[in-house]
Amino acid sequence: MRPIIIGNWKCNPSTLAEAERLFKKIKNGIKNIKNAEIVICPPFPFLSSLKSKLLNLKLGAQDCFGEEGGAFTGEVSPKMLKDLGVEYVILGHSERRKYSGETDETINKKLKKILEFELSPILCIGDKNRESKDDIKEISLQLEAALQGLESADLSRLVVVYEPIWAISTTKGGVAATIDDAKEAVFYIRNILAKLFREDITKKIRIIYGGSVDSENSRGYIKEANFDGLLVGKASLNAKEFIKIIKAAV
Ligand code: PEP
Repeated sequence: MRPIIIGNWKCNPSTLAEAERLFKKIKNGIKNIKNAEIVICPPFPFLSSLKSKLLNLKLGAQDCFGEEGGAFTGEVSPKMLKDLGVEYVILGHSERRKYSGETDETINKKLKKILEFELSPILCIGDKNRESKDDIKEISLQLEAALQGLESADLSRLVVVYEPIWAISTTKGGVAATIDDAKEAVFYIRNILAKLFREDITKKIRIIYGGSVDSENSRGYIKEANFDGLLVGKASLNAKEFIKIIKAAV
């Protein structure tokens, strides 16, 4: 399986011109890389313009609404994203859970809608506190709630991100997970999925790591901790570093 490397630009950059410049630099830097799937998730307003410049990059959105359309002021539906050429949608990011009141229920609803429109959900789960003894229980509950009511056959496009909140670069004191932490998490997540769904299907679900990924540690998460890819936040806004992360990882 080719690793998937996803850049989550969050609420950056602030102009379309900057977004286009960053996108172009990344695109040029990875044009000879064939053995990875590379997805950029810019803010909504830039999706349409970047769509025409894709080449070997794919587009993802950072969220979407759980309905097809209608009287829902301010929302963006999966149908609109599909029409724009978006292939992936990030869901359940800890920043959305924290700042936008996203609950497990809304994440579940959005996930079902995303699948209905044949987009691929990038589902983020993660524990809050590094020292907690309940970390496995925490991620297991998030996973079960998000996937409630889904059938095994729905899951082939799912990407699960293990993104401990304590590891995100913008979390105060945030430090990347060690390879051992990460290895353990990927093992538990696969086991939880295998208990919920058919094992032959869950084996194909991509489980990736997010949290303070840089060009020094990216390779270890893929080659040693057995993740199927990476979600990169801050470092994906620096084209040089993002390209180095990708090259090191593949
Ligand atoms: C993120 O928040 O999705 C993320 C991966 O952040 P960072 O790489 O900056 O830790």
